[in-house]
Amino acid sequence: MLDSYVQIDLAKLKSNAQAIIGKYPQYDEYIAVVKGDCYGHGMKAAKALYDGGIRYFAVSSLEEAKDFREVLSDTPLLYLEPVASDRLDEANKLKLTLGVSDMEHLKSVLSYTGCSFKLHLQIDAGFNRLGFNDKEEVKKAVDMINASSHKLEGIYQHFATSGIFDIHYDNQKRRFSELTSLIDLKKIPLVHMGSGVSLLGHPKIEIANTTRMGLVMYGYNIGPQSYGGGIKNKLRDMRDNYYRKKYSLTETIKDVEIPLAPAMEYRCRILHLKKVKCGDYVGYDASYKAQSDITLAILPVGYNNGIGHKNYSRLVQIGEKLYPIVGEIGMNMCAVKVDDSVSISDEVTLLGKKITLGMFCRAADLGLAEALLGIGKNNERIYIN
Ligand SMILES: *Cc1c(COP(=O)(O)O)cnc(C)c1O
Repeated sequence: MLDSYVQIDLAKLKSNAQAIIGKYPQYDEYIAVVKGDCYGHGMKAAKALYDGGIRYFAVSSLEEAKDFREVLSDTPLLYLEPVASDRLDEANKLKLTLGVSDMEHLKSVLSYTGCSFKLHLQIDAGFNRLGFNDKEEVKKAVDMINASSHKLEGIYQHFATSGIFDIHYDNQKRRFSELTSLIDLKKIPLVHMGSGVSLLGHPKIEIANTTRMGLVMYGYNIGPQSYGGGIKNKLRDMRDNYYRKKYSLTETIKDVEIPLAPAMEYRCRILHLKKVKCGDYVGYDASYKAQSDITLAILPVGYNNGIGHKNYSRLVQIGEKLYPIVGEIGMNMCAVKVDDSVSISDEVTLLGKKITLGMFCRAADLGLAEALLGIGKNNERIYIN
């Protein structure tokens, strides 16, 4: 057995894709975002998603596109960011669909004669990163593409927020409509606006016939959840409803039921079981003091393995029980306070089983995708079916 390893369940990825398409059949196309090496799952994950019915993918760099092509040589692949003008030949060889984000970039793409690219026009409806943000320019861009040898296949924007009781989501929807008011959206085959959280958390946006998704496909239900019972939560609900009416916010769909299963688990072995006497200190900065005679399991895992160095009451699972990591997490090791039922040959789960990604992230002070990338990219991956 490896000292520590990430296990990726390809069958779960496939069934996640099927579950999403089954639950939301009203889209013409589903674009799986496989940037960050499939959110740390490795490009093999893309093939599993394909097997689950996904027929369009998106990446954020040409290097990722190359890795993707090793797995799926012909499937449509959208490059979300503007390709550098001196790399258009590479983009051509990789058979990429190109996102086009401004006039300068569009001109450089249109002057390319090596092939006819499929293009998706990127609109900046409020994120303020990339994309066209002037309606006359949007019209001009569409006319220029239509007059060229390249093909306008899509148009898209990206939300800055989840739109769960904030006004930015609706502002961006309005702004998108305004920026595209001089063109005929119906003539553009693929219109995509939202990512996973808008898919789960809101009704379908009427003008969008395509959706992009990341986290949900890897098995995480990131849709909004109810606050639960109690008077405090009732008040929060009332506040939300008040704001929704006052600002005519889009409806929020809570507690979506969809059979998604996380595909990634992270496990390790135990290096050593260490007895520590009451009053002794553990690890860097002597930040943990044993309050009684205790046993520690020393793990071969630290921030070198992408788990971060923070420890806000982090738990791991051994057998059926949960145990806390104590003291500072080092580069290559950390310590878990265990009991007599633990033996040196036991396997430790740091993510998976009872340790949800949410628990992991709160304890490590990491974002959801950030944690998956950290773990997935910094450990050996084992694939199961
Ligand atoms: C990463 C990304 C997505 C996927 O986002 P999720 O929140 O993981 O669903 C969608 N669209 C764009 C442009 C992205 O960069």
